[in-house]
Amino acid sequence: MEDKDLTLWQDAIKFHGHECGGLKWGFKVATFAMEKLGIDRSSDEELVAIVENDSCAVDAIQVVTGCTFGKGNLIFKDYGKHVYTFYNRNTGKGIRISRKKGTNVEDIFSANGEDIFEVSEPQEQIPNMARIHKSIDCSKCGEGTMETRIHIFKGQFLCPPCYNKAITE
Ligand SMILES: [Zn+2]
Ligand SMILES: [Zn+2]
Repeated sequence: MEDKDLTLWQDAIKFHGHECGGLKWGFKVATFAMEKLGIDRSSDEELVAIVENDSCAVDAIQVVTGCTFGKGNLIFKDYGKHVYTFYNRNTGKGIRISRKKGTNVEDIFSANGEDIFEVSEPQEQIPNMARIHKSIDCSKCGEGTMETRIHIFKGQFLCPPCYNKAITE
């Protein structure tokens, strides 16, 4: 591994809390995808990742690509699949990566990405940019809540937990 990759790998371990096989796969997926899309670590939103699971691998993907929940350019689909889609907003190019069937990998890091990954076109359009929404105070708990999450119930503006409580009362 190159020095800059080694540093990034150390960062991934630090972020994730332990070193494991899932983290290695995620790291390999992310570095491979960025190479394919011709992109450096995302400074803002030019890179978007859709992950179809919430396993250890996703932590490495966040560190390597810079796609994070907080920035809104990491999108989680709860499909339970080891499938990852990445888009470069600047070029409009996208890539969908899954693990090739029947591959026996001894050392993920030294393996050739083309040998272990199935690469295809994304199945969906590039997701919209994360938008800043205004915040509305919940009529019950008073906490500011993003307006798109507010429920209107019996003339009140309710945040999701207060709404869930109200409808079961
Ligand atoms: Zn792990
Ligand atoms: Zn509330």
